Amino acid sequence: MIPVSLRQSALAPIYEKVVSGVRLDTSDALQLMQGVDLNAVGSIGDAMRRRLNGDRASYILNAYINYSNYCILSCQFCAFSRKKRNGDGFELTLDEIVVKGQAAVNRGATELHIVGGLHPSLPFSWYLEMVRALGRLEPRPHLKCFTAIEALHFSRISKLPLETVLEQLREAGLDSLTGGGAEIFDAGVRDRIARGKESADEWLDVHRTWHRLGGRSTCTMLFGHVETAEQRVDHLSRLRALQDETSGFTGFVALPYHPDNNGIPVDRPPSALDTLRTIAASRAFLDNIPHVTAYWVGMGLRLAQVALSHGADDLHGTIEEEHIFHMAGAGTPQGQTEAAMVRAIREAGLTPVRRNTFYEVVGRPREDAAATR
Ligand code: SF4
Repeated sequence: MIPVSLRQSALAPIYEKVVSGVRLDTSDALQLMQGVDLNAVGSIGDAMRRRLNGDRASYILNAYINYSNYCILSCQFCAFSRKKRNGDGFELTLDEIVVKGQAAVNRGATELHIVGGLHPSLPFSWYLEMVRALGRLEPRPHLKCFTAIEALHFSRISKLPLETVLEQLREAGLDSLTGGGAEIFDAGVRDRIARGKESADEWLDVHRTWHRLGGRSTCTMLFGHVETAEQRVDHLSRLRALQDETSGFTGFVALPYHPDNNGIPVDRPPSALDTLRTIAASRAFLDNIPHVTAYWVGMGLRLAQVALSHGADDLHGTIEEEHIFHMAGAGTPQGQTEAAMVRAIREAGLTPVRRNTFYEVVGRPREDAAATR
């Protein structure tokens, strides 16, 4: 039965499409992305969430490690990167990375999520050795490392074809690619926020190549800066088209832009309404991507909890130590406890699921004192 919030709404036909399994087109997605009635848009995102994931909502015990924030690029939106001459950057040694990784695994992390800037001098062999060393941790964590631009950087510095780079990383122990760096695919927007970074086609080609090799990855959209609703829909369309081709994306993460300490003329992050609407519209449109994450680092756990009734079915992970959003002004904590995530999911009326990187159930959710790591 059509929800009350949609009975008098112009969006009712889109709801009918979602519940009867008819794919939305780009004009439907644009109506949702521009919808002023959040209840109606949220109901549609929620209907797709239920269709794909029932009453489960997941989280992962994971840890972030940034190996370095030195970067040869200067993306205008980035508050994370530093030049060597700035004197306030960082880079970890392999030993330090292994110690951090082992400590996270000892605390229960099943996934290490590792990215960094495009370092000016480290050779490709250093990254291979990092992956090999982390692959020797006990118990072995899932290694989810590198964005598309890092993979392209490795190809450039090693003078090896991208496919060979990805094969060598996989042989060294890389399990998944991260979904970062997609930003907004529109070329004009990319030029305004991330000049010099890879093009949309290059980002998509890295993931296409990785998927063809049998790998899996996630995908993202950085929203709420200078892009239009049409450009968001174009971005989602390109992700959906690649997923039709490869089925290699396990989940989608909408990343709310944070405006501090960078060169983009935006004075506040996206509103709660825009964040929820974007998640709901994305969920409804991306019918071939199984999971949608509410990224608590960017929006706070409270709003992420509300997003669980607007299309999201995942709260991401415990993380432990986050730099990229916090250097751009995020006021959220550095990490979340398992107990807090489980409670947030239960309060939202859903069944908490502790997952692995592929969203498969692992272990039993815990909200007792031992789950406060
Ligand atoms: S977004 Fe990535 S590639 Fe761009 S400057 Fe920052 S660290 Fe470097």
